[in-house]
Amino acid sequence: MVATAGKPLESQAIGGRGGVDAVLSFSPIPSLRPCMNPARRKTYLKALGVDVWVSRSTPGEATEPEVAKIVPIAKVPAKAKAPPEPAAELPVIERAPPIIVPTDWAAVRAMVKDCTRCKLCATRTQTVFGVGPESASLMVVGEGPGADEDARGEPFVGRAGQLLDEMLKAIGRSRSENTFIANVVKCRPPGNRDPEKEEAEACRPYLEAQIKLVKPKLIVALGRIAAQRLLVTDEPLSRLRGPLHAYGPERTPLFITYHPAYLLRSPREKAKSWDDLKKVWRFLQTG
Ligand code: SF4
Repeated sequence: MVATAGKPLESQAIGGRGGVDAVLSFSPIPSLRPCMNPARRKTYLKALGVDVWVSRSTPGEATEPEVAKIVPIAKVPAKAKAPPEPAAELPVIERAPPIIVPTDWAAVRAMVKDCTRCKLCATRTQTVFGVGPESASLMVVGEGPGADEDARGEPFVGRAGQLLDEMLKAIGRSRSENTFIANVVKCRPPGNRDPEKEEAEACRPYLEAQIKLVKPKLIVALGRIAAQRLLVTDEPLSRLRGPLHAYGPERTPLFITYHPAYLLRSPREKAKSWDDLKKVWRFLQTG
């Protein structure tokens, strides 16, 4: 299957009803009051290791989270036409033969279970399909299974998985109720190395089939590798994190944040991660 690269939605018009175009963006709406209980939020933040600042004027209550919204605009200004540039040399990615993935869960699961489309099949204990409700409004995508996941057959079950569960809990989400969790590749790369581009391409039809079946309102990619493989880019995480992208033929909104394993190694980044979670939360409330 041909890879479908995403493009930032912030720079793209989406045909709106009634002739009004819109762009998706994460913008602060300070006037909207979130429905999360401040005391609960404080408890979650503490569990995540994020400092809570309390306003002097409103003792006992933390600052409200920033929120996401769809901003209607009259028209997206047309960009000035740049002179044509010579075609850049594109990296060659060896692709597995195209396949038609079934459109029902049982058949997709069976296909993944016996898959030999890339070399990762030779070293896996078992495939790690994904977990969560089949019609979740949020889909979380990591890069690939690690040793614990390979042994258990479930994504994000080690220490990073526990932190991911805490992060999801902080925004009222869980893998058992409303969040589907999957990986770019369904088999563990040996030695926990990054999945290669060819492996991600071979596995992409399965992920796209999962996205089609789940129909999430939002996909959140965890970490640089997941983001780069999904968007078929080598851009650094610092540039990919922030804007809202669109993924696949359905142009599902895609947001990128830190991988929980990175947050375990770099706890100082947890505050930024919390900012991202607030945006995810508000997007799911309003998007
Ligand atoms: S990683 Fe994906 S494409 Fe490769 S063998 Fe596993 S299921 Fe198949």
